[in-house]
Amino acid sequence: MKIAVLNSGSSSLKYKLFLMPEGKEIESKLVEHIGEEGSLIVNHHDALDSLNLKYEDIDAFGHRVVHGGEVFSDATLVDERVVEVIRELIPLAPLHNGSNLEGILVVQDKTPSTPQVAVFDTAFHTTMPEEAYRYALPKEMYTKHQIRRYGFHGTSHSFVSKRAAKILNIPYDKVNLITLHLGNGASICAIENGKSIDTSMGFTPLEGLVMGSRSGDVDPAILLFMQRELGMSVSEVDTLLNKESGLIGLCAENDVRAILSSDSEDKVLAIKVMVRRIRKYIGAYMALLGHVDGIVFTGGIGENAVAIREMVMDSQLFASLEVLVIQTDEELEIANKVMKLVAKGDSHG
Ligand code: ADP
Repeated sequence: MKIAVLNSGSSSLKYKLFLMPEGKEIESKLVEHIGEEGSLIVNHHDALDSLNLKYEDIDAFGHRVVHGGEVFSDATLVDERVVEVIRELIPLAPLHNGSNLEGILVVQDKTPSTPQVAVFDTAFHTTMPEEAYRYALPKEMYTKHQIRRYGFHGTSHSFVSKRAAKILNIPYDKVNLITLHLGNGASICAIENGKSIDTSMGFTPLEGLVMGSRSGDVDPAILLFMQRELGMSVSEVDTLLNKESGLIGLCAENDVRAILSSDSEDKVLAIKVMVRRIRKYIGAYMALLGHVDGIVFTGGIGENAVAIREMVMDSQLFASLEVLVIQTDEELEIANKVMKLVAKGDSHG
């Protein structure tokens, strides 16, 4: 069975084709600059056309969808209702769900009879208990406006935690892990008996760790100060927090390789701020879990930056933790989920 995986971002489209169940990657393509000034690729329709897919050879499509809200606790076959719900969730993830949905609709248009599956970044974290996902805000902010912590990077935390359980030879529903996805975006997850019980990203992927260009945790009063005292607009604050903060904000660079090879004061400090935040979260998650079977590093930084791993783990408290470095593969995890759902659909139909 051939499964195509699409990750439609606002200006890019990532595509991979897998032969399943072998999990063998047959093809991989990236279209960039969609809809940007001067680009020949005006929209996701053009982007998909430029991939020259042989639709008749593809048995199913899997789409990465960032926000599944409280509705989707697992991957789901796309139908009209699913399309509507993803659309309704756009306000919760304006940068992502719109373009994710665009990808689904374009494929539907090209090949209406091919099954499509949506795989949500939030789904893995729907097991969090209420005390983990509620903010200490007035109740109606949650009940009326859905303001709660959702968590993201779920596909990656799920993939590496399953691998880790296998390596440690512990049944997945018995394993306690702390998984660290450290890429340009970064999050950490506490997994108890194979279920996410807490994670550092919240209502949006902005909360938590120091990232390439995102601030992670800040005192929310700073945002009020920026607007009230510095006269910044909502969109200026949004851009500052998402695009101009994190490592970029601290040292004008977000490539950790470059930062590590420099001894400029700002760059050294940027790494210290990032590492300290990670260590605080690990300590907190150890307290929540009580017993930890392993700590997993993944993502571009987690997999490659040995120096960062050493700095993070340099604590007496962490000395007994088993450290695993596992390459994440979100596309393969999506293909696996698609295969399971499509196979199930076949057996019922
Ligand atoms: P994304 O979240 O965009 O998928 P990645 O998971 O690819 O990002 O991670 C990108 C980050 O990984 C960058 O900060 C990059 O500097 C870092 N990185 C990649 N390779 C190395 C390496 N060998 N040493 C240190 N950092 C690395």
